[in-house]
Amino acid sequence: MKKEQILHGKACLEVLLGDIVKQADMDVIVNAANAFLRIGGGVAGAIHRAAGPELEKEASKQAPIKPGEAVITAAFDLPNKHIIHVLGPVYERDIPHDILLARCYTNALALCEEHQLKGVAFPAISTGAFGYPVEEAAPIAIETLYNAMTDLNSVKTIRLVCFAERDYEEHVKVLKSLSTP
Ligand code: ADP
Repeated sequence: MKKEQILHGKACLEVLLGDIVKQADMDVIVNAANAFLRIGGGVAGAIHRAAGPELEKEASKQAPIKPGEAVITAAFDLPNKHIIHVLGPVYERDIPHDILLARCYTNALALCEEHQLKGVAFPAISTGAFGYPVEEAAPIAIETLYNAMTDLNSVKTIRLVCFAERDYEEHVKVLKSLSTP
């Protein structure tokens, strides 16, 4: 298993090469959702398939959501307690895409704190179908999460799960730049 981590405040930020639906030790996983909180492809497809059809029924009651917004549901057949659904910005369409992308991470963390969750796993939001280049998205994801860590009370572990080796390397590069004095 490939993993890198740093400690900051009272929490740990990890970058992992893996699958978002196989994070059984996390209280909550984050879905890179679509506005209607329907099945879709990529992360949303994998999460809905693993959670079962009840997820779409519950989630779609809270739809539509706007870029940067986050909502929480149960996790149904997944081993986690909850799923947080965020809508990432479509690169160069939902602008300013950098601010909207950062908001996905901070709004998801705020929901974790509200629900007193300890461990949260994120995918690399917007870097798939929504076209955000990973070399631009990775610094936003990692730096936003890192900067939020000193204000966390409940959340102790934040894990960014990368599906592809190249995406993992991009995120680890940013993580290492933060831990280098
Ligand atoms: P978006 O629509 O926000 O771009 P996608 O689901 O298309 O979301 O992709 C977001 C990122 O998640 C991409 O880098 C993609 O490779 C990755 N990804 C796809 N499936 C999984 C999975 N099962 N676990 C973790 N990451 C995944």
